[in-house]
Amino acid sequence: DNVLVEVTGLTKYFPIASGGLFRKKVTELKAVDGVTFAVHQGETLGLVGESGSGKTTVGKCVLQLHRPTSGEVIFKGHDLASLSEKQLRAYRPKLQVIFQDPYESLNPRFTAYDIISEPMKLHGATRTECRERVAELLNIVGLAPYMAERYPHEFSGGQRQRLGVARALALQPEFIVCDEPLSALDVSIQAQVLNLLDDLQRQFGVAYLFISHDLSVVRHISHRVAVMYLGKIMEIAPRDTLYEKPLHPYTQALLSAVPVPDPRVEAKRQVILLPGEPPSPLNPPSGCVFHPRCPKAFEACSSVVPLLNDDRDAHFVACLLYKSSWP
Ligand code: SF4
Repeated sequence: DNVLVEVTGLTKYFPIASGGLFRKKVTELKAVDGVTFAVHQGETLGLVGESGSGKTTVGKCVLQLHRPTSGEVIFKGHDLASLSEKQLRAYRPKLQVIFQDPYESLNPRFTAYDIISEPMKLHGATRTECRERVAELLNIVGLAPYMAERYPHEFSGGQRQRLGVARALALQPEFIVCDEPLSALDVSIQAQVLNLLDDLQRQFGVAYLFISHDLSVVRHISHRVAVMYLGKIMEIAPRDTLYEKPLHPYTQALLSAVPVPDPRVEAKRQVILLPGEPPSPLNPPSGCVFHPRCPKAFEACSSVVPLLNDDRDAHFVACLLYKSSWP
């Protein structure tokens, strides 16, 4: 079918040194531990989880901004993880990123024109081509052409994020990692940027990996949603299936904390409180990594690692309550 990016068994371990000069110990922080998913052409896959769940690291590994420790990232039939930096250059234009804080990711000494045209210049565009394309891109993201001469501090937060979007679009990408693109913005501005991303997808058929801790935002924009906890994917399903019939106890707890607009449903909502904090990825629990906090844990959960498998029609879950997850 129309798979654009296929990630298989992705891991990213960071070595962490501890102890003194003579008793140095190196442990591994398992930021991402065996993650598998696919993103289709023109699709948005939402990736949700609390901070520290590894979702940003997944995004960076897909783009090869972090080199994975192991696993494959297949883009149009080529495993990006096995390519050299030089070979990767041919794919960079097609894979772009929009960051959380537009202000931090934009060079304050560059004008909007410089910022948007920079990737084009690197790929050999002429001055005239840059001028025309920058004007076109500003128009596409809803900014006026005269704003090309302005500096980042002369834009509002929402406008800066539009600038970030224009830069990401400059080289006609097929895949964009959006890493918490709304969390630095006011709620009223968030909806505008979400609608812009939606429009661009319809217009250009670009696919998104949309990383966020905000379940309402993810619900709005995603076709399918994956839930991460402690470096692993717990559940993946089509958006409405996941929000209406979550199978994994962790997803059920996350969703129970989100207010529902329908007052009749809201009146019956019961928040599932999880005990404790997520454990450290330096020393993840045995078996199901969620077992120390899971309200439905049973004996096998502390020793058997559940597999992420298809339980019902395109609904993948990693939990031993379901037969499909048993090894
Ligand atoms: Fe809970 Fe066990 Fe399922 Fe893990 S495998 S989510 S601990 S019931």
